[in-house]
Order: sequence, then C-alpha cells, then structure tokens
Amino acid sequence: MIALHPTRTARLFGRIAAQQNEHPTKPRPVLLPSCPACTLRSERATLRADGRRLRFTACGHVFSLTREALLAGLAAQRSA
Ligand SMILES: [Zn+2]
Repeated sequence: MIALHPTRTARLFGRIAAQQNEHPTKPRPVLLPSCPACTLRSERATLRADGRRLRFTACGHVFSLTREALLAGLAAQRSA
C-alpha cells in the first residue's frame, strides 16, 4: 500500500473529475489519468466507501489516503 500525499491526491481527483466532466455521455469508459505509482492508465479506480483506499483496476496498485488527503481530493473534485 502506498500513501498518497494530499497534494497528489488533489491533483489526481481534480484530473479525474475534469475528465469526467469532459466526457459525460461517452458510452465506453474513458481511461483515467495514469496511476501515480506506475503510470499505467486504468478504466476504473475504486474508492473504498470510507474514502481511505483508492485502487486502480488495471495495475492493482492500492493507495492509502489520510483524512487530510481525502479532503484535499474532494475539494479539488468539486472545483474541477
Ligand atoms: Zn499502478
């Protein structure tokens, strides 16, 4: 498990949200921004219900988010 720094979380969540805003009606999943650990791009990343774990489906990398990182990410998501 890799700890995701608040700054990187904010950048990642912001990019994912911006990308989803660009392609709201695409029938096929759009590749997400690359995984911060290996740069592989997944179609999906799963955020655990409590928001503290983020898993990229293509490479299986799992990131742990502190509460601070999660809040930074959500703020970036809202403002994307
Ligand atoms: Zn990865």
